[in-house]
Amino acid sequence: MLVIRELPIEAITIYPSNSFDGMEILFRVSNHNYQFLIGNSKNPFPINVKHVFKEKAICPFCQKKILPVPLGQQLCIAFQKNQSALLQYFQEEYPDAF
Ligand SMILES: [Zn+2]
Repeated sequence: MLVIRELPIEAITIYPSNSFDGMEILFRVSNHNYQFLIGNSKNPFPINVKHVFKEKAICPFCQKKILPVPLGQQLCIAFQKNQSALLQYFQEEYPDAF
C-alpha cells in the first residue's frame, strides 16, 4: 500500500486545465513523472493519475511497463487507488494553488 506522505514527491506544477473545469498537477517521484487530473476548481475531486514517462520503464508503484508515447501512458492503478489522499496532500502542501 502506498503512503502518500512518505513519498519523496517533487517538481510539482499545478495549473488550471485548458480542456475542462478543473486542474492538472504534474509531479515527479522516484525519477518518473505523473499527471493528476482534478475536476472542478471550486470543489476539487480526483479524476485520474497517469504515467507521463519520458522513456520506457517499469512503474515502481504499479509494476506496469510504461512506454514513452501518449497511448502508452495508462492510468497508474497504485496512485489511482490513493488519489483522495494524493489530492489532500497537494491541497495541504500548496493551499495557494487551490
Ligand atoms: Zn504506475
